[in-house]
Amino acid sequence: MRILGIESSCDESGIAVYDSEKGIIAHQLYSQVKLHQEYGGVVPELASRDHVRKIIPLIKASLKQANCQPESLNAIAYTQGPGLIGALLVGASIAKSLAVAWNKPAIGIHHLEGHLLAPMLEDKQPEFPFLALLVSGGHTMLVSVSGLGEYQIIGESIDDAAGEAFDKTAKIMGLAYPGGPLLARLAEHGDGSEQPFPRPMTDRPGLDFSFSGLKTFAANRIYACDDLPDAAKQQVRANIAQAFQDAVVDTLLIKCKRALKQTGYTRLVVAGGVSANTHLRNQLALLMKKLNGEVFYPRHEYCTDNGAMIAYAGYCHYPHGVDADSSIEVYPRWPLSDI
Ligand code: ATP
Ligand code: MG
Ligand code: FE
Repeated sequence: MRILGIESSCDESGIAVYDSEKGIIAHQLYSQVKLHQEYGGVVPELASRDHVRKIIPLIKASLKQANCQPESLNAIAYTQGPGLIGALLVGASIAKSLAVAWNKPAIGIHHLEGHLLAPMLEDKQPEFPFLALLVSGGHTMLVSVSGLGEYQIIGESIDDAAGEAFDKTAKIMGLAYPGGPLLARLAEHGDGSEQPFPRPMTDRPGLDFSFSGLKTFAANRIYACDDLPDAAKQQVRANIAQAFQDAVVDTLLIKCKRALKQTGYTRLVVAGGVSANTHLRNQLALLMKKLNGEVFYPRHEYCTDNGAMIAYAGYCHYPHGVDADSSIEVYPRWPLSDI
């Protein structure tokens, strides 16, 4: 079976072909990061227009890469939500038009389910049930996954997502957008142990997160070192970056540990852009070793937005999940538990 996947929820046009025998046989990604960089964040209208320009050439390139004719596809999967309405509409319109033209079914996919299933594309795949830590630019949540499509959110951020906190703190530090990976790199040269940051909401029971306070905490530290000479300032900035990253990672760890205890699960899946963070991966590996459990990740290129995870989710939901008709519907807000 072969599924074409189209991702366009935000600022990445991602196209892939999943083959049930061979795995991912085409993977094309165009990131709009440069386009949005001068605005310090994603400009929705520009994002939609760029998806219009890029998606069809990427589909052509994918079919060529997979050496695959449209006739040999079984279905076209696309991101139906959540995300930016204009960006979603572009991907959905193209998917549904091709579905009509090629006489193939279309399958609307939940973007976060795509992230969550991405580790299944690796050799080491998690078996159900498992706990999923979804850490991305727009979401931070703990999900009890008892089977395909059976997702119970047991904890989530009440304000900023972890990736958002990384990006906002990086912006305050003057790093380019999206600053998460740059802040992580800066943290490597720092020493965060002297002035640790708080671990928000860990002093009370529950599995929810709050990351917006850490950004304010970082801002105050950064402004306080404004008058230092340049060399000293650089070091203090690296120290702040590390203390910030330690706090985010430690907080995620504390809540994962709690959630594993609560669910009794021994498998942990980590997905979404922040799962690319090396410090987070190292710390979770240590934790799961201590708990005699296992941790699963997607490879780096499938951590952030991509078409491979959408094609794979489409494969999982075929044929039951195909759209009833050719009308174009997207859901900018769509709780994962509503699938
Ligand atoms: P969502 O999936 O919730 O709709 P999104 O699609 O924008 O949001 P992703 O593409 O999954 O999010 O992830 C992007 C986020 O991951 C950004 O906030 C980025 O800064 C963050 N990120 C990527 N690499 C790293 C890293 N190494 N360390 C920390 N954060 C990172
Ligand atoms: Mg992105
Ligand atoms: Fe995403």
